[in-house]
Amino acid sequence: MSNSTLHATYAGASRAAGAQAAALQLLLARTGADRDLALALAQVDITQMKGVLDAAGLQAALAEARAERDITAALAERCRRREAAGVALGATCACGHSAATHASRLVNGARLPCRHTGCGCGDLAFS
Ligand SMILES: [Zn+2]
Ligand SMILES: [Zn+2]
Repeated sequence: MSNSTLHATYAGASRAAGAQAAALQLLLARTGADRDLALALAQVDITQMKGVLDAAGLQAALAEARAERDITAALAERCRRREAAGVALGATCACGHSAATHASRLVNGARLPCRHTGCGCGDLAFS
């Protein structure tokens, strides 16, 4: 590689690292003055995020985190109901359909209605 190519490569890398340093320095200053912001940033799992932390990136990560919260809450509820009824993993609902056929997210905070067309079961129930 020529000297001028190397110079441009190192200069570019230095500018990028400088921009990162400036951004991190700003975050350190702001989080030092704002405990809520510091706690919120400490909660963000950057290994779960792709791309940059701009508004669009934050919106995408927010939507993904909310979906995961809701889907895992529904899975936990399925397991809780299975355990309460004392039934095995493959047990079907009273409507005859599998637990997986029911909503993947809690509806109105507590219900898991059946999604099978025409079923009408309003909430997953093992018996
Ligand atoms: Zn059902
Ligand atoms: Zn059903």
